[in-house]
Amino acid sequence: MALTDLTAYELSQKLQAKEVSAREAVAACFEKIDAVEGDIKAFITLTREQADQAAAQIDERRAAGEELGPLAGVPVGHKDLFCTRGVKTTAGSKILEPYIPPYDATVVTRCDEAGMPMVGKTNLDEFAMGSSTENSAYQITRNPIDLERVPGGSSGGSAASVAAGEAFCATGTDTGGSIRQPASLCGIVGMRPTYGRVSRYGVIAYASSLDQVGPLCKDVRDCAMLLQVLAGPDPMDATCADMEPPDYVGCLDDGVKGLKAGIVKELVYGEGIHPPVKAAVLSAVDTLTELGVECEEVSLPNIDYSLPVYYIIATAECSSNLARYDGVRYGHRTELPVEDIHDLYAKTRAEGFGEEVRLRIMLGTYALSAGYYDAYYKKALQVRTLIKQDFERAFEKYDILLSPTSPCVAWNFGEFDQMALKLADICTIPINVGCICGMSLPCGFQDHLPIGLQILGAPFTEDKLLRAGYAYEQATK
Ligand code: GLN
Repeated sequence: MALTDLTAYELSQKLQAKEVSAREAVAACFEKIDAVEGDIKAFITLTREQADQAAAQIDERRAAGEELGPLAGVPVGHKDLFCTRGVKTTAGSKILEPYIPPYDATVVTRCDEAGMPMVGKTNLDEFAMGSSTENSAYQITRNPIDLERVPGGSSGGSAASVAAGEAFCATGTDTGGSIRQPASLCGIVGMRPTYGRVSRYGVIAYASSLDQVGPLCKDVRDCAMLLQVLAGPDPMDATCADMEPPDYVGCLDDGVKGLKAGIVKELVYGEGIHPPVKAAVLSAVDTLTELGVECEEVSLPNIDYSLPVYYIIATAECSSNLARYDGVRYGHRTELPVEDIHDLYAKTRAEGFGEEVRLRIMLGTYALSAGYYDAYYKKALQVRTLIKQDFERAFEKYDILLSPTSPCVAWNFGEFDQMALKLADICTIPINVGCICGMSLPCGFQDHLPIGLQILGAPFTEDKLLRAGYAYEQATK
């Protein structure tokens, strides 16, 4: 078995037993990268030298008998939306070029402090806007399971890098599904923690009330381990909850007997859910029932409004967040001379932003404009509250909710237009709108393509998702 076939946990056992060194782990990743990256293109930037140095330091510290965290020496990839000191950061856009941040995002610092060498910065849809990583200004990332198909998005580079063994785990962000959906399409585990569980400091903003950082991993245990590193209060992010996270790894063996699960009717039987996906999810429900979970159907009547609500709130917030890229303060500036400042803004943005990003900025600006604010933005906020209340009511009765992650398996490049891509987020977006947490894990295949089961939990109950996911994974291998 190749080193890169191990999970992060298995590698960490070998590192601790000194059967393998961190430098060897990094070398194994780069050997894999050399072999497959030409096809997959998961990374925008590779940081081989930096990873080597970090690994060498870990090996020295371990040799000196220092006590290190469980993931010390385990190579990680970071979504190129996170600021990395001294390393180019693009957000998948040309508008930031040539941005080299002078500081690290908190999650990057946390992984560094945990001793995890960074192998590189992973590809993404521009400013995390997309569901297939086809909106990146740099390259298309291919699904390692089938190179003709998309890896999902927007954290498609992170998901593909883990699925291909180029990194042992990776970070991503999930504003409307960008961790769970690519995890599902690439056959790995991905979690969107509750908003406020993980710091957003140093994460380039898309939609600030929806963005959240989380792990993409090979299995549920790895997901618990990486979440433990990422989660927790941060004085640099006022929206980060002032709550110490529980022991995520410790809770894995607590089992699921007596847990109550609601099967979300609208997301399992609803329009657009492909039959093989539905069948796989229902068979996962059977397995969980055998394990002692009490499962029954539940209806969330307002959930069908999630997509329109999301596309008003997300575009409104992005139009505000992206206003700063004006050719004056950041990155790209059009060639001078220009007629006036407006001409400078317009030309810079037309050159620097991709079509989808410009479309969303315009939609958001429209929704926030004086004449339409009440009709669109305010209304969307009100409906968001109704969706949140649907979840609150459901979680009074159930510990977890179950649904598919994606209504279909990975599709071919070019098969979906931008509208179809948006509809493909039907199962993931309600979680962000409803301010809860969710995890995707593999639950079967349609031909050779993986299907994802989505497990949802009330705010700050990531431990329950992990427990249920782990029990399912152990029972099904
Ligand atoms: N696909 C959704 C969008 O384009 C979600 C993206 C995300 O979670 N960052 O907005």
